[in-house]
Amino acid sequence: MPEPTNKRHKKGSNQPTPAPKVPRGDSFWINLASSVVILLLLAGAYTYLATDQQKPVDIPISQLATDVQAGKVSTIVVSGDDLDITYVAGVSTSTQASSTPVEKTAKKEPDTALSQTLFNYGVSKDALDKVSIDIKRESSWQYWLTLLAPFFAPLLLIGFFIWYLSRQVRGAGMQAFSFGQSKPRITDPDDAAQRVTFKDVAGAKEAKVELLEIVDFLKNPKKFLDIGARIPKGILLMGAAGTGKTLLARAVAGEAGVPFFSISGSEFVEMFVGVGASRVRDLFLTAKRAAPAIIFVDEIDAVGRVRGTGVGGGNDEREQTLNQILVEMDGFEPNEKVIVMAATNRPDVLDPALVRPGRFDRRVTIELPDRGDRVEILNIHARKKPLAEDVNLEVIAERTPGFSGADLANLMNEGAILAARENRKTVAQFDLIRSIEKVMLGPERKSHVLNAKEKEITAYHEAGHAVVASLLPYADPVHKISIISRGRAAGYTLKLPFEDRRMQSKNEFLDDIAMSLGGYIAEKEVFGDITTGPSNDLQVLTSLARNMVTRWGMSDKMGTVALEGEGGRALFGAGVEGKEYSEKVSADIDAEVKHIVDGAYKKALDIITKRRKLLDAIAHRLVEVETIEREEFEQILLVHGVQPKKKQEIDVKAAVVDF
Ligand code: ADP
Ligand code: ZN
Ligand code: MG
Repeated sequence: MPEPTNKRHKKGSNQPTPAPKVPRGDSFWINLASSVVILLLLAGAYTYLATDQQKPVDIPISQLATDVQAGKVSTIVVSGDDLDITYVAGVSTSTQASSTPVEKTAKKEPDTALSQTLFNYGVSKDALDKVSIDIKRESSWQYWLTLLAPFFAPLLLIGFFIWYLSRQVRGAGMQAFSFGQSKPRITDPDDAAQRVTFKDVAGAKEAKVELLEIVDFLKNPKKFLDIGARIPKGILLMGAAGTGKTLLARAVAGEAGVPFFSISGSEFVEMFVGVGASRVRDLFLTAKRAAPAIIFVDEIDAVGRVRGTGVGGGNDEREQTLNQILVEMDGFEPNEKVIVMAATNRPDVLDPALVRPGRFDRRVTIELPDRGDRVEILNIHARKKPLAEDVNLEVIAERTPGFSGADLANLMNEGAILAARENRKTVAQFDLIRSIEKVMLGPERKSHVLNAKEKEITAYHEAGHAVVASLLPYADPVHKISIISRGRAAGYTLKLPFEDRRMQSKNEFLDDIAMSLGGYIAEKEVFGDITTGPSNDLQVLTSLARNMVTRWGMSDKMGTVALEGEGGRALFGAGVEGKEYSEKVSADIDAEVKHIVDGAYKKALDIITKRRKLLDAIAHRLVEVETIEREEFEQILLVHGVQPKKKQEIDVKAAVVDF
């Protein structure tokens, strides 16, 4: 049962970039049908050419000789060894009588003249003279076709199948036959529907100022080149997920009116080794042809991680791709008018070679939006949504510290969905308020019904958090308590700071840790037992305490040393940070972490035991109504003689902690 604070663990949902179009669905059946038809046609043509349509009777050559001698034959057409015989009309042949000219076929001996053969069978010269003999060269195409068809038909079929399969494979997105071609998504500057400008990006003022310069250059390169200015080749956008990095990059292209080639770092590394590098080459070539243009490599940390320290396979590919990017960037002439932009939320793991001057030497940081920015972002995303009269986006912004632009976009969307579900024509404030928690914690799990005992335990757990938070001076005020499960949490206590914070002090951390322990202690004190509920609380507070010791110099014993850098100790691909301290120090850290947690435990336990009546009151009310909002909570506090926190107080205290 983690108590969500303004520090959230959920990532903002990135807007999916449109996937390349893949022929699928209907076209599959069209493909199949057309290939079947083509197959049938081929087979038909083959049988037509290979065999005769109507089969005249075949007679032996001796029979022919007899008929010629008897004067029954009118013409013989010789083609190769084949004889087409036409009988005189009305004459009855040995086999049938007919009024129409009968046609028959025969074969002559190969390599002998027909007349010679007939003579040999005893046909007289007179009789032969009456027959018109027509010697026909076999028409050459037909001759060759009948000769070669047996060989070529299978070849044709095989060729057809290869073609057919290759279409299918490509349809499946495997690019087996077109690898090495980069498939950047290109945004055409003239496409008004896709065009994004700075107007669509709220907040991020400093970033916009930096980027305006780039826009200016792309619009008017001559001005800069004439004065001998070197334009940055690479701009690295850094910021948490969902802060609008991708959006800003597109806005730069939109403002400048240049084509925008966008590809994601992970797309470089695909199926075949060596493809990443060739994709890079391709991408740069295409962009140079379209210059002035912007190349945008999204999530560049996928390829741009520190080289040479990786563990496990697949690194060569990544390194080659990264090398190729560096080579291409170095190869730019100063007047090439192609600017490379890249985005990452892990600047700490990037290879130092990437951020050297002449490469991504401009770094633009995008912060999480502050309250004013949040109002603006909400306004942007409210543009196409009819809002009810009561909507006050200021209030929403106030309640969403730590939300990224993507979270806010998501929130507005969830609000609209809620309104639509209830068949309302406008989005109400209530919809937006409900959406805040949904975006923060995931949807309510109505199906997750607690039994009476679980409900009581959860209520005491959350009440424990709330009581400790209310009585510690540096903890944020409680905004809402609920035992309706959401996402993975069985219940939650929402506390919100009065204002956005960029820094936190040691005292605040200590109170945070104590508050996290509140749930655990309440369970233990009231029921004499502990559930699995607080496991997440414990994880969070332990890592907080650890960070205080190893990173922020907040431990008296360890002193002011940062024992660990920012960033991960991720194993694959990342720079695996070596431990820079001894086993002894390691043990000291553990001891110090324990010391901090123990101190907080004592503080929280003290509050819970002294304020047992308050705890009971909150827990009972929770079992009853499941959710307590701030106003009601403060009433309960007042009844028990606890002053709710006021904005003023906090400000004064925050000022006391010198930072
Ligand atoms: P990032 O690339 O930093 O992870 P995105 O640029 O993909 O974030 O942002 C995701 C979405 O969030 C955007 O498409 C936009 O709708 C919204 N968004 C983020 N930041 C802003 C902002 N500053 N102004 C307006 N909308 C924003
Ligand atoms: Zn908890
Ligand atoms: Mg992005």
